Amino acid sequence: MPARSPVHAAACYKRLLVDTPSASEANGLQAVCDACRRLHRRNLLAAADGNVSLRLGQDEIAITPAGVNKYRLRPEDMAVVRLDGVTVSGTPSSERAMHLWVYRRCPDARAVVHAHPPTAIGWTLAHPELTELPSDALPEVILAAGRIPVVPYARPGSEAMGTELGPFLPAHRLLLLARHGALAWGESLEEAVNGIERVEHAALILKTAFELGGAKALPEDERRALQLLRAKNGPKLL
Ligand SMILES: [Zn+2]
Repeated sequence: MPARSPVHAAACYKRLLVDTPSASEANGLQAVCDACRRLHRRNLLAAADGNVSLRLGQDEIAITPAGVNKYRLRPEDMAVVRLDGVTVSGTPSSERAMHLWVYRRCPDARAVVHAHPPTAIGWTLAHPELTELPSDALPEVILAAGRIPVVPYARPGSEAMGTELGPFLPAHRLLLLARHGALAWGESLEEAVNGIERVEHAALILKTAFELGGAKALPEDERRALQLLRAKNGPKLL
């Protein structure tokens, strides 16, 4: 775990609160901590796994630090990184490349959440041939996210984590990362967290269905109707 002195952490927090012209800065950082605790409580990440970021302005994001348990995260622990990858303050997550790719490619992205939802990851381990989480049986996947593609494996912490994401952006807001986790982005932190909850819940329902004999597909005309509804409702994760 990288060493960070209390003085340095306090300086980061001051940097976030004083130098950034967002009136809701402190609330935003506290909301990130609350979101991390929510994900931890729901078993969507463990220990220091996962990372959450928030856009601070055109060129900077606040991102959770490396090596800090998400249950105990404090606003003053957050790091600041420029979109060109330069660290402004703190010790940012080693998985920041994914976040930066999302913000560069998706002007609407205000928040990015990456977690390790166990059932969703299990699907990519047991079925490496899958290009998306099966969506032909479960209306909620179509209505809430359209499709949930699987991004090819890249070593956690590598720059390749970002480049593998590229082809899926900005079209998709909810993605599975093969053998690793899930990533969601949204126009709010709530939208992105909801995406992570959604993918794990859907994965669990589908796993249950397969254990009970298989998930039977919806009729094609119903799938088409649901896709039309999704298109009408817009791109937000529901
Ligand atoms: Zn991860």
